[in-house]
Amino acid sequence: MNQSQNEFAALALASPLLRAITDAGYDKPTPIQAQAIPLVLEGRDLLAAAQTGTGKTAGFTLPILQRLSASNERPRPGRPRCLILTPTRELAAQVGESVDTYGRHLKLSSLIVFGGVNINPQLAALRKPIDILIATPGRLLDHAGQRSVDLSGVEILVLDEADRMLDMGFIRDIRRVLALLPRQRQNLLFSATFSDEIRQLANGLLHNPATVEVARRNTASELVDQSVHLVPKAAKRGLLSYLIGSNRWTQVLVFTRTKHGANRLAEQLGKDGIEAMAIHGNKSQNARTRALAAFKDGSLPVLVATDIAARGLDIEQLPHVVNYELPNVAEDYVHRIGRTGRAGSTGAAVSLVDDEEIKLLAGIERLIGRRIPRVEVEGFTLADAARHESDAAQAAPRNAPRRSQADGRRGGAERRDNRHENRHDTRRGDNRGPRDGRGKGQARDPVQAQRRQPASAAPEHSPRPATETRSASPSQETAPASRKLVGAFGRPPSGPRRIR
Ligand code: AMP
Repeated sequence: MNQSQNEFAALALASPLLRAITDAGYDKPTPIQAQAIPLVLEGRDLLAAAQTGTGKTAGFTLPILQRLSASNERPRPGRPRCLILTPTRELAAQVGESVDTYGRHLKLSSLIVFGGVNINPQLAALRKPIDILIATPGRLLDHAGQRSVDLSGVEILVLDEADRMLDMGFIRDIRRVLALLPRQRQNLLFSATFSDEIRQLANGLLHNPATVEVARRNTASELVDQSVHLVPKAAKRGLLSYLIGSNRWTQVLVFTRTKHGANRLAEQLGKDGIEAMAIHGNKSQNARTRALAAFKDGSLPVLVATDIAARGLDIEQLPHVVNYELPNVAEDYVHRIGRTGRAGSTGAAVSLVDDEEIKLLAGIERLIGRRIPRVEVEGFTLADAARHESDAAQAAPRNAPRRSQADGRRGGAERRDNRHENRHDTRRGDNRGPRDGRGKGQARDPVQAQRRQPASAAPEHSPRPATETRSASPSQETAPASRKLVGAFGRPPSGPRRIR
């Protein structure tokens, strides 16, 4: 028996499970596993404060597998002995994968059911004996309504990410499911946070529970290198493309606040030459599964997600998380950055914060109890934006025709023309500049050449060399305001600079 098996064996896990743990390459139990496994093996109810990324899934799956395989009870068709409820389809799929991984040397059967997909294959699968059913609440109730599932034989119930289930409005569904379960059973409740609602749910559900807490409440992972870019809203996409391109990030999970925003950003990144897909609740299950699989296997470098879709995503050693927009709820920031720096690996979480989000940032810093270091990339700062605005304001009156009632309209018309030209300029910068300038230089780089070249190794606003702007003579200040904006924003960035 090697050392890893020793540490897990000390938790009284049986040898088929120890073999699976060795196959998975785990060295030693994570803190939640060390605490939870013996308690679950004893048959205790459990109230566990643990976020995704702590190894909590193995923390409940391993002892459940052991308990189920220890008894001689035979599974019956459509009548699971263990029910694991999860808030999202993705989490259900991941828990299902864990059950397969850890149970590979055992003869237990499991099934995953969630909504958004054809129910017929599930109906067929439910006609076979099942030990472990992993389900989202809505679809489970559909099955219960059709009597394709019988919950009267459930010996162990797990509510995984219970806080998120409540956030998603599943409380009534959960209560309806609970009403279908036998009174005598073991209950395990996992939650990242403990609101009054969760405590209320726990009080009604758990009997003399053991409590396990592995991270202080709402503590951001110490392993995650967090940073903030204070950046004008309009420059966010350019900065994101620049960060991805110049740092050669190959696996980035980007959070937006809305589904529409996720779609739009994925599309815009595509125009910058960065392959990206969006994942959110409006996407079909097939599209979500495809995007997630491509992201996990490394063929898709950027996944743009909303909070709910990303909840529980388990991607091994995800190196970069970007908050394209800060979440409205500070706790969600902690969940988001928990996607990286998981199970002992280090990761980076970068937040792009515009001036309307400063308050949200302050709330997050209050919650995690520390200031997140600010990083600046020249050409993408609020100060740059302010400078350009004031340059533009100074330039405009000097060049505007003197206002008289007669020519006021003409001035307006010119300004409109200029604006038109500026938009044209910006678009050219967007579409042509970076591709012309950057493609060649970077194609020489073998790493870059291997994957589709992000056209955005330089920012959206930097289509021209700096000299073009700098050489502007005073008389050239008649240049349209936003042209100057484009030029100055676009000064080739000198690289990120930590300012505190
Ligand atoms: P979870 O918090 O359950 O989502 O697990 C997060 C990640 O940690 C998963 O990728 C697991 O495969 C991994 N993991 C779980 N237990 C261990 C362990 N003891 N050692 C190393 N990695 C682990």
